[in-house]
Amino acid sequence: MTAKNKIFLFIGPPGSGKGTLAAQCVEQLGWIQLSTGNLCRSHIHKKTDLGKELKAAIDAGQLVSDEIIVAMLRDWLLEHKDTASNIIFDGYPRTKKQAELLYHLLHTMGNFELVVVKFEIAKHLLIDRILSRMVCSNKDCGRAYSLKEYASKGQGPMLCGVCNAVLEKRSDDTREILLQRLDVYDQHEQDIIHFYKDQGHVIHSIDADRPVDEIFADFVSKMKLQQLCQ
Ligand code: ADP
Repeated sequence: MTAKNKIFLFIGPPGSGKGTLAAQCVEQLGWIQLSTGNLCRSHIHKKTDLGKELKAAIDAGQLVSDEIIVAMLRDWLLEHKDTASNIIFDGYPRTKKQAELLYHLLHTMGNFELVVVKFEIAKHLLIDRILSRMVCSNKDCGRAYSLKEYASKGQGPMLCGVCNAVLEKRSDDTREILLQRLDVYDQHEQDIIHFYKDQGHVIHSIDADRPVDEIFADFVSKMKLQQLCQ
């Protein structure tokens, strides 16, 4: 990995569009993405012992333990550390402890530049988005869609536009669990942001209440302006 390799940390509440923007960066810019949520769901799908533990936390709207998440992250990074692409972390770090553990991990692994991107959106919009969210059932894809996109398309099965697998609801996308997840997010957001400010990082804000293409264009132009992408 060269000194210019960057890790973009997408920080934002559930439903703020982190995964959607990440997917666009993967498709249009050739970046690579780690979604810790998708990694958890992939374990659950395989019904491993770890998967059972993860499901209990996720379905309660709670965070998975920092130790488990960091172990997953370390394995993923070791596998991808020689990539020539920029990397996006979607959903990591979610606690200050995770931010600190990442800091130490990267220290031992070499020269990565962290770019912190914060998604700004009003909470009432998130509830509507999440309750109408469908995701691809292919755990290696996990692309998100809105039920509203399908409302006008008649009765056929809802299929993923990327891999053609059937779409499904996520088990934690219910009103009750979402309110819990939003609460958990609120408890940690400021600690994480302060951690990065104290480290001297700029926090790049993205107005996430806009059409997907507009957000992508804005993100790319902001990053270009700061010479953080080509
Ligand atoms: P969202 O951002 O919509 O909440 P994710 O797919 O990123 O969805 O995460 C789903 C769930 O997976 C979280 O509510 C949490 O239980 C677990 N999870 C994902 N990433 C982490 C993490 N970094 N630390 C702890 N738990 C995590």
